[in-house]
Amino acid sequence: MRWKVPVEMGVRELQVARRLHRVGRFYVFLRKIRHELFDEDFERALESTYKKARGTAPLPPALLAMVTLLQAYDQVSDSDAVVTAVMDKRWQLVLGCLGAEEAPFSQGALVSFRERMVRHDLDRKLLDRTVALAKAKGSFGWQKLKVALDSSPLLGAGRVEDTWNLLGRALSLVVDCVAKVVGVPREDVVSQAKLDVLRGPSIKVALDIDWDDPSQQAQALQRLLEEVTRAQAWVAEHAGDDAAKPPLKEALAALRSVIDQDLEPDPSTGKLRIRRGVARDRKPSLGDPDMRHGRKSKSKLFNGYKRQIAKANGIIVAALVQPANCADAVATESLLTDAARHGSVEELHIDRGFLGCEAVDTFHARGGLVLCKPWPSRNQGRFTKLDFKIDLKDRTVTCPEKVTVPITKSGAHFPGDVCTPCSQRARCTKAKNDGRSVDIHPQEELLLLLRQRRATREGRAALRQRVTVEHSLAAVGAIQGPRARYKGIRKNSLDLRRCAAVANIQALRAA
Ligand code: SF4
Repeated sequence: MRWKVPVEMGVRELQVARRLHRVGRFYVFLRKIRHELFDEDFERALESTYKKARGTAPLPPALLAMVTLLQAYDQVSDSDAVVTAVMDKRWQLVLGCLGAEEAPFSQGALVSFRERMVRHDLDRKLLDRTVALAKAKGSFGWQKLKVALDSSPLLGAGRVEDTWNLLGRALSLVVDCVAKVVGVPREDVVSQAKLDVLRGPSIKVALDIDWDDPSQQAQALQRLLEEVTRAQAWVAEHAGDDAAKPPLKEALAALRSVIDQDLEPDPSTGKLRIRRGVARDRKPSLGDPDMRHGRKSKSKLFNGYKRQIAKANGIIVAALVQPANCADAVATESLLTDAARHGSVEELHIDRGFLGCEAVDTFHARGGLVLCKPWPSRNQGRFTKLDFKIDLKDRTVTCPEKVTVPITKSGAHFPGDVCTPCSQRARCTKAKNDGRSVDIHPQEELLLLLRQRRATREGRAALRQRVTVEHSLAAVGAIQGPRARYKGIRKNSLDLRRCAAVANIQALRAA
């Protein structure tokens, strides 16, 4: 199962490498370091995942892992990879099969190897190997890790549809599944359950209404829901216990989930109507149930995922994918834990999205240096929080007029009878019959420190160091592309990690 390829380049390999001197240096570098990347320990770790395999002898896992890297670099599918391994000398140089007329792997082998990678966390190990290689090459210092985190949108691969099409597709899926389970043609289910909306090429064609007329829309929705009820009744009558087993169980759950997330009772009629606004955690695609709605900014929306990376000392040390509606802070702990496997984390460079979580508090409490822009004070034209002296030790707040009040659970409140006669009142509060209030954030101590740091030239220079992770994320984005290659969080995390591994190898080549 070992990948038996020579370390030194042969004559033909040297000829190909010379031709790639200007435009294919990545392939030549990969060929040169392949024995270091897949060293004895890593090959053994890859091999160990095959111990319980039965049947024909598998291909060397190191070879397949190398193919996944080449696929990430060239963004080719499994079928294209098989062709490229025969037609492209650059791939043949890396894979050690120059002049081969047959690819040294099959399309199916790549699919099952990726599944194995997911099961055994090999994608994380592959990324770790590039980090270990960077350590071994000595180009990077590892005594103190300066970890920087960042995220960017990754558009989902599933088709995003409106409520009508989601309902139609979910209903159609139930009919397909139950037809298979019961062993009758789909048309029989459609006619016996009287599902006329499934007779047309699409749900909207079958409903055939004036879509600008709200009353016609309401009637069409009731008609559609009646057909959904008839389909559910048909399933209950004919599928029996199979309705509680996959895949019919999942199809029925998907249909229920579309109804729950996209419809709501109409307060005037009591009947269901299309929901006003967007349900929390709405699934916009039936094809990829892990996709979610996300925001790039207040006005720019996207559907899919967020890719998140941690970079330390010039190398990407962790990467993962989260649903688009997941706050960045949710990933902080996982990224920090992954980073800490490579050394002692001394500094954490983040933006505000990653700040509000326990992992940052714990890191700060342990003496780690957190570098992040603090939230801006929003009391424009009046005294901001920075004008008040907040003493967290004594739990008091003192205003610019030297009035001191205690910090309570709801923050610090200056009484109205103190503020009303105050000469600074107009510069302090808009409250008509009350005094000024100052919110105390759960992370106030850390925020105070961040504000103090930003006020100094050195502090602002330290904040600018985070820009390096933005460059790395852009490099990973350029390799992976804007859209997810796979459906589901785990497979896309694998794809992100192999792209991060490629970005690390590129950084090593340039070092
Ligand atoms: S208005 Fe109240 S809180 Fe503001 S400066 Fe005057 S006394 Fe202090």
